[in-house]
Amino acid sequence: MAKAAMFDIYQTRQWKEVEKKCTKQEWENYGMKAIKKENRRSGLYGTLNEWTRYKRDRRGKKKGARSQSLTQNLIDWDIGYHYAYKYEMSKLLRWQWCIVTQLRSGHNCLNAQKKYGHDSTLCDQEVCGDLKEDLRHYVYVCMAYGQQRNTFFDALDLIYMDVYGISIDSIDYEELIQFILFPLQEDLLDKDIRRDTAARLKLLNQRITVLKLLCCYVEDTGRFKK
Ligand SMILES: [Zn+2]
Repeated sequence: MAKAAMFDIYQTRQWKEVEKKCTKQEWENYGMKAIKKENRRSGLYGTLNEWTRYKRDRRGKKKGARSQSLTQNLIDWDIGYHYAYKYEMSKLLRWQWCIVTQLRSGHNCLNAQKKYGHDSTLCDQEVCGDLKEDLRHYVYVCMAYGQQRNTFFDALDLIYMDVYGISIDSIDYEELIQFILFPLQEDLLDKDIRRDTAARLKLLNQRITVLKLLCCYVEDTGRFKK
């Protein structure tokens, strides 16, 4: 049964554009393990292809009517596979990893980014009046978290200064939020950095520090449930 189900997935989902590769006899000699492995490989390949195609189609279009969702940012910033994710997973605690993923993907409990229970998109804090609670508001604006934000930004500034030699005060929101969510993304892909183990490790650890600072901010504000 499991073999039949696997074959079904194999045929209908990811390999829809590929003709059946094996003859009946070959199929009978095909082990479960091999099917699973091949499925996983082709599934990953298919997903990656679709994502690349989607990004290519979307880029450059509808610049004016840009969606506020962070998924749009992932497309604009051309965020794809990166070797640093594996390192992050080994260095961050599970709850930290969850927070980072939620903020990156835009699937989180902020009122303007919630995917269900759309009562209101506005910030719950009275001082904020009728301001929308999206990521920008939460990290950059919300008046309820001024103190936590100062601590967060001061620590962030030291790292940014060390890497780029300028203060975060001199960059705009877009750059800052990209730095917070995907710290040093491009720098880590630099050829010289990839060859230099010590330099790469330094950047990777700075990346982890930034992500941990973000998690501290989230924890201090108490806005997300652990
Ligand atoms: Zn607010």
